[in-house]
This record gives sequence, structure tokens and C-alpha cells, in this order.
Amino acid sequence: MKSLTQLYRIGRGPSSSHTMGPERAAKYFEAMYPDASCYAALLYGSLADTGRGHGTDRVLQKTFSKPVEVVFDVDTPTAHPNTFDLIALDGDGKEIARRRVVSTGGGAIEMEGVDNSESEDVYPHRSFEQIKLYCEENGLSLPEYVYRFDGEGIKTYLRDVWRHMEASIYEGLMEEGELPGGLRTRRRAKVLFDTAPPDEEPETRENRLVCAYAFAVSERNAAGEMIVTAPTCGSCGIVPSVLKYEQIKYGFGEDKIIDALAVAGIMGNIVKANASISGAECGCQAECGTACSMAAAAAAQLGDMSLDEIEYAAEVAMEHHLGLTCDPVDGLVQIPCIERNAVAAMRAINAVSLAHFLTSSRQISFDAVVRTMYQTGKDINSRYRETAAGGLAQNYTLSRLSSRFIRPKD
Ligand code: SF4
Repeated sequence: MKSLTQLYRIGRGPSSSHTMGPERAAKYFEAMYPDASCYAALLYGSLADTGRGHGTDRVLQKTFSKPVEVVFDVDTPTAHPNTFDLIALDGDGKEIARRRVVSTGGGAIEMEGVDNSESEDVYPHRSFEQIKLYCEENGLSLPEYVYRFDGEGIKTYLRDVWRHMEASIYEGLMEEGELPGGLRTRRRAKVLFDTAPPDEEPETRENRLVCAYAFAVSERNAAGEMIVTAPTCGSCGIVPSVLKYEQIKYGFGEDKIIDALAVAGIMGNIVKANASISGAECGCQAECGTACSMAAAAAAQLGDMSLDEIEYAAEVAMEHHLGLTCDPVDGLVQIPCIERNAVAAMRAINAVSLAHFLTSSRQISFDAVVRTMYQTGKDINSRYRETAAGGLAQNYTLSRLSSRFIRPKD
């Protein structure tokens, strides 16, 4: 598995696979063919279906320093749903070069014929079972395992990640008004925060604050502002909201938070290496489900829970996202995505609570649930994998049409 620097990426939303990945590919491609007069990008699959809403065309136009034509090809089938071709053209419009690119999720890309892996594998293990065994044999905690293989330098990187996560919470809590994209979605983080009840009503207060933090980060993502993929843009509010709530509630110092981010990262890495963190490939269970597992594991680490308890918390968090579809309305990362981050953050806290009491009676391993998520994702109809062709995306469109053209009966 690769370094956690490849999982937590600091950049602009709203979509790691539809904006961050194409942006990186465009920079790479232009550096390969700087003498081209102009470029073209042919988007297929989910990129063609929801690329407009996610802003793939806008990010490509902003990234290339020369004109680029973006074509949304919804008809040509491809093996991976996030596939696109980048083409370099000369002054006569003749093709000079073409590369096929796959945006594999979380901002990572694979470019045909190019060994563009940004880093070598640094972790020798792929499954939680292997990691747990290694930790037990060597007397290591999970954070110590991460620092042993990712290097001590990863702590500095994770501090930077945390600073960006905190900034996205604080800035998101101050913003009001509508999000861009035409859905007229209002920012609601501030109102959730401002209406949090006092300490005397702890459960309602917890819910309101955790949700407010998750909304704050997710709304900034939806607006194309700076966030950290955890593990993706669409699911970026879950880990920071849980960590920030726990930090304030229990007064944890930054070193504890960095350890928790390390644990969250290794769980995300296991999913990325063995399954998928792409909504287009496996539905929202791969994005918000993975983020929920990461947040649950991080919160369990903050509570000094055992390896088994951390595993169980992460397993519960993923298990109850199995089958979750990706059906973003208008292809925007707003409905259901923003609320979903808040709900998943609360679910992560519930998963930790269950793990605290029930770990000794658990029957499903984290590796088994990750495998199941991947198999389930492959079985999910493509209408529910970031194409906006089914689910809420379709019913929202229909209800909007109905309310405009069909008069209610007297
Ligand atoms: S529904 Fe989930 S996977 Fe799909 S765009 Fe929204 S957050 Fe991402």
C-alpha cells in the first residue's frame, strides 16, 4: 500500500475523481506535450454523465494553458467508469498524441503507457489481519505501525492535513447563502452550529455540533473550496467532524489527533488497496462508507481502544453502509452528499460506542466487510454509481418537472 500522502490530498472540491484527478492528468499531459496548439478531452462513463455538475469541464479549461475542447461522450462504453482520453493537437487540428486516463478515486490517476505512480508502496501488508498480526508480534500500536513504514515525516504531513481540516470547519461555519450550481442549496452549517443546545442537553448538542462540522466541510467542498480528501472529496466532512468534536469535548492535544489521523488513514488505505473508494465504481458505500470506517477507527484510537475494538468499530461503520447508492442530484456534490456526511459522522460515533461494549462477540472482520463492499459495488446497477441516471437524481428531476407543469388537484 502507498503512503498516506496519497490518500489525504489537500486540494479543491467538489470531486476527487471528477475534478482533482482530471486536473492532475491535464497538468501531466501538458508537460508531456507542451508544443501542442490546443487540446481535447473526451469524457466517458460517469465523467460524461455527471462531469458537468461536478465541474470536470471547468477544471480542465482552467488547468490547460491553451484552448481545450471537452466532449461528454455518454455512449461509448469503457471498462472503468471514470475514463477519459486526453488529446494533443497541432495548429492544423491534427492529432499529435493521445493518452487514455482512468481517474481511480481520491484524486489518483492511471495514465496509459506512463508509469505515473506518484510513490512506491511503502506498506508491506494489504489486509487488516496482516497488519494486526505484525503489530501484535512487534508490540506496536497502529499509529506506531504507520510511522514505522510511512516514516516519521508523515507526522508533519498529517499536521498539515489537520490544519486544513480545521480551517475548512471554521471557515465553513462562518459562511451563509446559496451554493453554486443552480440547485439553490442553502449553506446550513452555521445555523446548525448556532442552534446547538447547551451542555445540559448533551445528546442533542452532540448531534448538532457533529453535523454542523460535517456540513461546514462538505459545503466548502460543494463550493469548490479547499478541503482534504478523506478519502474523497464527496466524503470529506466525516473524519474532520468526528475528530474536531472529540477533540473539543475531551481536550485532546494535536499529537493525539495526528495518531488518530494515522489510524483513519491506514483503514482507508486498506479499502483503497483491496476494494475501491470511488462512487462511480462502487457507489457511495465506497466513499461515505469508507470515510465512516476511517472516522470510527480514529475515534476508537482517541479512546485508547484495543486493536480488536478499532477493527470492530471500522467494520460496523462499513457494514451499515453496504449497498449505499451514489445518485447526486444534477450531478452536483450537494444532495444527498452534504447531509450524508453528517449522518455518517454520527454513525461513526455510534459504531465506536457499540465496539466498546460488543467487540468480544463480533463475527465479521474488517477485511471481510471490505471484500463484501467491493463485491456489492460491482453488482450495483450503473444508474446508482455516480451517473445521476437513477435514484434521487431522477426522482428529484421528475418532481421538479411535475411541480412546474402539473397543477395540484383542487
Ligand atoms: S452520493 Fe456519495 S459517492 Fe455519490 S457524489 Fe455524493 S458523496 Fe460522492
